Amino acid sequence: MQSDELRNIDNEHVWHPFTQMQGHRDEEVPIIESGDGFFLIDTDGRSYLDGVSSLWCNVHGHRVPELDQAIRAQLDQIAHSTLLGLASVPSIELAEELVKRTPADLTKVFYSDSGSTAVEIALKMAFQYHANKSPADSQTRDLFACMQHAYHGDTIGSVSVGGISIFHQIFGKLLFESVQIPCPVAYHRPEGYTEESYLEFCFAELERLLAENHERLAAFVIEPLVQGAAGMLMHPAGYLKRVRELTRQYGIPLIADEVAVGLGRTGTMFACEQEGVTPDFLCLAKGITGGYLPLAVTMATDEIAAAFEGAHTDYNAFYHGHTYTGNSLACAAALATLKLFDENRTLDNVRETSAVLTQRLAELKEHPYVGEIRHKGVMVGIELVADRETRTAFPAELRLGHQVTLAARKNGVIVRPLGDVVILMPAPGMPAELVEQLCDTVFAAIDEAIQMQV
Ligand code: PLP
Repeated sequence: MQSDELRNIDNEHVWHPFTQMQGHRDEEVPIIESGDGFFLIDTDGRSYLDGVSSLWCNVHGHRVPELDQAIRAQLDQIAHSTLLGLASVPSIELAEELVKRTPADLTKVFYSDSGSTAVEIALKMAFQYHANKSPADSQTRDLFACMQHAYHGDTIGSVSVGGISIFHQIFGKLLFESVQIPCPVAYHRPEGYTEESYLEFCFAELERLLAENHERLAAFVIEPLVQGAAGMLMHPAGYLKRVRELTRQYGIPLIADEVAVGLGRTGTMFACEQEGVTPDFLCLAKGITGGYLPLAVTMATDEIAAAFEGAHTDYNAFYHGHTYTGNSLACAAALATLKLFDENRTLDNVRETSAVLTQRLAELKEHPYVGEIRHKGVMVGIELVADRETRTAFPAELRLGHQVTLAARKNGVIVRPLGDVVILMPAPGMPAELVEQLCDTVFAAIDEAIQMQV
């Protein structure tokens, strides 16, 4: 089929996520047909640098021979079988590998297929953990602590512990109760605070809210170090450690949602490592299969899992599962992805490209419309503002972030903004020269979009 025919069918029948469909139809988005390394190629043969790792999940590139081969080899065995009443070779091998690589104490691996379900499962496990330990707790431990502006996915549970206001406006009535902890990011402080006094306030509020609510809290869920979908908001050093100390003190299980930050993104394999923190639950998805296939894991400690042990008649098993739980092709892709981290020394590459990003981002420091640049590893948010002094945003109807992505796309780079925060998420395996190309094109696109609007 020609591009026009495909586009007509897409416009007619494909309902795209988070998308106002009229805008999608007007815009004639590229229709991707193939990939090559870190590039996407559309049906008209145009090639684009994949500047956001295909929504933050690609790790080693597209059409990576080792990953393709691992999936083909698994296809020669079996594509899928169930984990209900049966086990499977790749799910066993992957669990062993994950337990070896994640912080000590995380010894159990529960499979699902998206970041949202990984979090949903952790929430349900935490809730049932208390109920299993003490039935009275199922009546009282009915509250979750989460971070202001957090994003943990789109299921009802994961939205309940999120802080994206439009989701709460629309689905509020369906959500369960949570306690929102102020996000310790000084740039977005309310009037009347200095940077220092706002961070002090945030640490104090963390302590107060946990002290006040600990008897009702089933768990505390956090994106360690970086709140990605909030616009790459970065917590100050020591914050995660303090959260771990307090949750331990009050006996509140800690859920680390490393769906975005895990698998090398922040410079270490897992973000928790940077503050020496072991959570009670660790959620992974996105990059776990190198961006090839849907797979997620919720890891838990022995202590959590022990509360689910018992006889059939105890009815305290974890009552949750999906048809494709532990899919064999996805597990094979994940095993090959982890192996490539070692063979390609991907974490060293992240350190090198992160240094390139530091150097290149410095060029924007004095830019009159760049309010803040947030960067860790291969995660970057460039916040565009109408007024640097007052930190005033551009009018939302300008859709400046979006205009930047259109200008970048015209010049062969795919990026996707979060409001007026321009996001760069090069794959952890992307070589330095392509990261340079990404910066060249996006920085020029920022200027082009601003010139058109201001
Ligand atoms: N948690 C975090 C931190 C995320 O960034 C995301 C997605 O961006 C999710 C959960 C949801 O993952 P998924 O889109 O695979 O459901």
